Amino acid sequence: MSVAARHAHPAAWRWQLRHRILSVAQLIAHLPALRAQSAGLAAAAEQFPLAITPYYAGLIRRADDADPIFRLAVPQAVELAEQQYQSLDPMGEARHTPVPGLVRRYRDRALLLVTPHCATYCRHCDRKRVAGRGTGGMTTAQFQRAVAWIRRHREIRDVILSGGDPLTLGDAALARMLAALRALPHVEIIRVHTRTPVTLPQRITPALVKLLRRFQPLWLNTQFNHPRELTPQACAALARLADAGLPLGNQSVLLRGVNDAVEVLEELFRGLVRNRVRPYYLFQCELVRGAEHFRVPTRRGLALMAELRRRLSLMALPTFVLDTPDAGKIPLTTGHILASGNKQLKLRGLHGEIATYPEPQ
Ligand SMILES: *Cc1c(COP(=O)(O)O)cnc(C)c1O
Repeated sequence: MSVAARHAHPAAWRWQLRHRILSVAQLIAHLPALRAQSAGLAAAAEQFPLAITPYYAGLIRRADDADPIFRLAVPQAVELAEQQYQSLDPMGEARHTPVPGLVRRYRDRALLLVTPHCATYCRHCDRKRVAGRGTGGMTTAQFQRAVAWIRRHREIRDVILSGGDPLTLGDAALARMLAALRALPHVEIIRVHTRTPVTLPQRITPALVKLLRRFQPLWLNTQFNHPRELTPQACAALARLADAGLPLGNQSVLLRGVNDAVEVLEELFRGLVRNRVRPYYLFQCELVRGAEHFRVPTRRGLALMAELRRRLSLMALPTFVLDTPDAGKIPLTTGHILASGNKQLKLRGLHGEIATYPEPQ
């Protein structure tokens, strides 16, 4: 297949998944400069899964962690040295799981972990307890139990398909899941949380878009973290979704060495709006094992947001939040900050809950 055909063919996304970089040997074949670090890489890839689509690997310009795409996707020996925060479940989701595969942290919303698989594994992933672990996703029986739970809980208005990445599933499996959720009259909106527009834009086929349209209102939230991810292929995928009338949102993570500069965030958020994607959340990095090198002091994040507010329309400005195990997502704005020192941040949630967050030292 020619390069153009590989991107346009309806099965191009399956080609991308079949040809992913999954081992350190394959990574070195793609980026020979990494040979010298192969031992550290292999140890990190053993702890936290490695997968990179050929498309996304093609966006790496230099085999060096100053390259944002490299930093987002390539394992680093430093991940193993960072054992200060041991959690693989920083949001405490396991404690909020009434039936397997369903997370409920808000009265009116349920989140389904429909698959553990992603096209590309993010090094900063905050769901390391799930992503790339185990073989299957939710079994049919588990999915039916989750649907039965939602049927009994009429206060659930909003169901999120997440994982892993739900769009790594095939069209038939997705259609079955969406149809089962749409059959519940109290489910007002369905959301699909996916990074495929970023790491596997070939997945956004005309057939998939047609399928998603059948289940409206359906919102799609994605995660662009750097303007270099807004390639012509990614922008074309976003245009297919927007042209079909699907509202699009973006949830970025503030990541040291990737997007912790005002110019980078400004270009990212402007680029998203230009592509009809509303910047929705900017997350403070979670206390997840192996991601310490990505954390940015909260005060620096607040200063970046203040500068962005001076430069950007509110349309282009996401809400800066910390996701906490018991109080959910708390906006990081002055009204919610009770104390902010060099060591620790103390916050008040929307309902008065208190949360603390240790600052990187
Ligand atoms: C983030 C999240 C939601 C959605 O929260 P919004 O603020 O509505 O986007 C729902 N359920 C869980 C478990 C979540 O983590």
